[in-house]
Amino acid sequence: MDVVSPEKRLRMENKKLSREIKRLRKDNEILRIANDQASRTQAYIQKDSTRQVFFNNQLLRTYPYLLVLTDEKLLTVMISDVFFRYSGDFEREEIRRGVPLREVLAGVLPEDDLSILLEKCEAALAGASAPPYLMRSVVGGSKVDWRITIKRMEKTGGEFAGLNIMFVDMTDVVNAMERAEEADKAKSNFLANMSHEIRTPMNAIVGMAEFILRDSADENAKRHATRIKSAARTLLAIINDILDFSKIESGKMELVNDSYQLSHLIADLASMVNARLQTRPVTFRTDIDGNIPNLLYGDEVRLKQILINILGNAMKFTHSGYIALAIRHEKLAGDYCRLFFRVTDTGIGIKAAELEKIFSSFTQVDTKRNRSVEGTGLGLAICRRLVDMMGGSIHVESEYGKGTTFRFDIVSAVEGWQKLSEAEEGEAEPDGGAFRATFRAPEARVLVVDDNEMNLEVAEGLLAPYGVFVAKATSGPEAIECFARDTFDVVFMDHMMPDMDGVEAMRRIRLLKGGPEAVVIALTANALSGAAAEYKKLGFQDFLAKPIEPKIMEKVLRNALSPRLIRMLEKPPGESAAEKPAKAATGDVYADAIDEERALKYCMGNRDFFGKMLGAFRKNDKTKPLENFFRAKDWENYRIVVHALKGNALTVGALRLSGHAKELEFAARDKRTEVIVEKHAPFMEEYRALLAAIDAREKP
Ligand code: ADP
Repeated sequence: MDVVSPEKRLRMENKKLSREIKRLRKDNEILRIANDQASRTQAYIQKDSTRQVFFNNQLLRTYPYLLVLTDEKLLTVMISDVFFRYSGDFEREEIRRGVPLREVLAGVLPEDDLSILLEKCEAALAGASAPPYLMRSVVGGSKVDWRITIKRMEKTGGEFAGLNIMFVDMTDVVNAMERAEEADKAKSNFLANMSHEIRTPMNAIVGMAEFILRDSADENAKRHATRIKSAARTLLAIINDILDFSKIESGKMELVNDSYQLSHLIADLASMVNARLQTRPVTFRTDIDGNIPNLLYGDEVRLKQILINILGNAMKFTHSGYIALAIRHEKLAGDYCRLFFRVTDTGIGIKAAELEKIFSSFTQVDTKRNRSVEGTGLGLAICRRLVDMMGGSIHVESEYGKGTTFRFDIVSAVEGWQKLSEAEEGEAEPDGGAFRATFRAPEARVLVVDDNEMNLEVAEGLLAPYGVFVAKATSGPEAIECFARDTFDVVFMDHMMPDMDGVEAMRRIRLLKGGPEAVVIALTANALSGAAAEYKKLGFQDFLAKPIEPKIMEKVLRNALSPRLIRMLEKPPGESAAEKPAKAATGDVYADAIDEERALKYCMGNRDFFGKMLGAFRKNDKTKPLENFFRAKDWENYRIVVHALKGNALTVGALRLSGHAKELEFAARDKRTEVIVEKHAPFMEEYRALLAAIDAREKP
């Protein structure tokens, strides 16, 4: 047994104790350090949160918007100091302790607006997210435009914490915007009014210069007058641009659609370009797809304006080489097509950086180099808007120093799918335009009403093969008288008549004996799409567009007559095909002006009837009234006469004259008197020449 002396044991105990003491000391030291650390951290945290509070307060004090933070019960937590500008009802401390949102904002928003806001807040509390909204309210007698944003606040982890509602005062911005809009509107109105005012005296200037040119024998005076005319014309072109532009700006520009022939439009453009290029080493090339349908329905005047602007620019900026016009098409669904136009020139070109700018208003690029070139910088801006209205777009490519290409496309309604190439060659339609009646109705009674005597003869001639009894009336009251004397099965009623129009006359006929049963068909020269529905709404059973196409008339007549009146014909009477017109010698005014094949289409291919029509056209000489109305500046009556002449000329195949009459009609309608002043004399000359040619032809 190992006996340890007490002394040794004591020593061992001692050693153990001192080791324990050492360890405790060390632990104590660690604890002290940890403690130190903890108190330092605590001090730091305290300092930091004071800092946070300081910065938060600073933020709320200087924040420019009204910011309200609420808890999930819509009690306020914080508010930015902007609030105190609108309301003195609360202390900052109260708000921090929580005030219901409705009470806090009662001084800022009127009751109704506040209710809307609270509804949106409730929705946001329920989880809906809402876009910012604008609210105009009246605070303390003056209006404030608020932009209000309501957002949910979430703590980290997605726990819902309340709402963040921000009000941005937009009053100044909205005021500035409203002022700018008003100024813009005022500018557009001013421009529109001014250009209208300027045009009136300008017409006098152009007209007077015209008179000097016509009446004066003094060569010097004539030279000056020519200058005056040319300067006035330039000025008018600028004014027209400004007027168009302000019309577009104020949303008043409207397209005026009517049927037209693309071949005529192209011919007009080509002669204009060729005339202007005569003295320059620049050639004009055209590349036009012959398969494009020729008979289109759209705003010919505006389409021409676009092309003239682009071709005009090309001519202004091209000093040698060529200018080329290409046209293509693409068939669209129904009776529509898309037309593609391209104008290429070998002119001075446009710098890449300036390409997009040229479609903006009042922009002329490269002004240093182009100082001598006239223009307002509005042309292409107008083109872009017009192309836009026609359902297309316009683009430009250019290489500076080499040349420029403009491309645009439009959607157009097609009225006849006859190809452009055929129209240009003047070939007749496959059936030669001949048409034969397929039935007779000798017991039927038809009344035709039109204030234009030639139209009455046309209708009578077209009705003759059906063997119906035809009565004619030249006015609404006369038609009513006729109908009161004798009832009729069918009435063809012109829409536009002076004094009493066709609608009124139709309504009065309906009140007469037999009136409700009669079929009344509207005759109209301005058949727009949707016309059928419009006329039916007015109380007509059907409508017929002028010039009347025999085929369509037969259909309308057959629908109008009761079957008991109709006797079908087995075979067309007569064996021979339609009579073909004898081609007149070329170079002759008559042959040049009258497209007989086209005219025969409106005359059932019947030459006698065509001869009668031509006679009526000759007899219906409108030169005197036109000259009188022109001299008296009676544009309304001028328009009426020239409108009728447009239709009559078309009936006898005088397509060009009809086109020119249409230009004058539109000019008179739009009060563009300068156009009338310019075009009246050449038009009258053309008209008189045609009448003389008809006379010469009748006297063999
Ligand atoms: P303007 O009525 O002044 O001609 P536009 O809007 O028609 O105004 O044209 C704007 C500008 O675009 C022109 O002034 C010209 O600088 C430039 N531009 C247009 N077409 C051509 C072109 N074919 N070649 C070179 N520059 C052109």
